[in-house]
Amino acid sequence: MIRVKRPTILLNPGPVVLTERVRQALMREDLCHREPEFAALCLEVKSRLLRAYPAAEGRFEALLLTGSGTAAVEAMLASLVPRDGKALVVSNGVYGERMADMVRAHGKALSQVRSEWLAPMDLEEVERRLSADPAVTHVACIQSETTTGRLNDVAHLGALCRRHGRPLLLDAVSSFGVEELDFERWNLEAVAATANKCLHGAPGISFVLASRAALARGGGHAPSVYLDLARYHAVQESGFSPFTQAVHVIRALREALAELEDEGGVAARRARYRALAGRIRRAARDLGLASLVPEAELGATLSSFRLPPDTGYAELHDGLKEAGFVIYAGQGALAATMFRIANMGDVHEDDVDRLFTALGRLVRR
Ligand SMILES: *Cc1c(COP(=O)(O)O)cnc(C)c1O
Repeated sequence: MIRVKRPTILLNPGPVVLTERVRQALMREDLCHREPEFAALCLEVKSRLLRAYPAAEGRFEALLLTGSGTAAVEAMLASLVPRDGKALVVSNGVYGERMADMVRAHGKALSQVRSEWLAPMDLEEVERRLSADPAVTHVACIQSETTTGRLNDVAHLGALCRRHGRPLLLDAVSSFGVEELDFERWNLEAVAATANKCLHGAPGISFVLASRAALARGGGHAPSVYLDLARYHAVQESGFSPFTQAVHVIRALREALAELEDEGGVAARRARYRALAGRIRRAARDLGLASLVPEAELGATLSSFRLPPDTGYAELHDGLKEAGFVIYAGQGALAATMFRIANMGDVHEDDVDRLFTALGRLVRR
């Protein structure tokens, strides 16, 4: 008898398990990126991205880039922080540190407010620097810091930015499509994200939602050609693109966005993610696994746990892979003590239950 192997369920924070509907969209006929059909596709995707957060419609423009989430974050920082500007980067994990690395690599002035990876953003220090340093032109931070799963208090930081008249640049790579984004109150100038995390598209396309006012100030800031949002904006208003785009992946993103709308939009997806994350966190508690950060401070997309005392990560990972699940290691200094479980993509409650049946066997052994 031939046994059909169940597909491996990815519980890493992207790339995610695609739905069949999105996967089929990758298989349609080939399309030239200089043809009107491609422009129509991009215009639809751009308007669907804005429609996901209706408060962005009208004031913001979506720009599509072929590249991973890092490309969108880097394009945002490269293009919107002026050459003679200064970015205040608030970091409490790998991705915040990466933002600071980018600003340094671009040769722009940087002020970094850095916290321990298990700690919240240091908003008191941010407030001090905003008061004391008029050279700061932009503030940048991560919404869902994937290092730990912490949902940073962007509402509080955004209010500070608004009070001090500094625009906020937000990495929402692992939260766009699920968590709330308040474009008005958070003083947002741009948000960077990707197709293949909470939107359930395929890897290869990322995007920046940038304020029209910021784009109208024009280009000349990016120490890069490929990552210069001004170049994209000039051509993408008509749906075209300055460089070859990942055409098939954009089609899959169109389908993923249609699926998100059919599902009830961002609020419905947030409810679904919260239910899944809650199920994961309850089951972990029942197994005696400790959450790395207080549960109330986590977002809806990812959970992080301390490794059980007698089980190394490799043992856990390999045992779960054998059972059909891919989990995610910790990064940096946290790698030896933790593991992560994301609930992005086409993942369901019965997957979580099967995961914890397998995990229970490994932990008790
Ligand atoms: C995944 C992630 C990134 C980087 O995305 P890539 O697609 O791996 O380039 C950036 N920021 C956050 C918060 C992420 O979770």
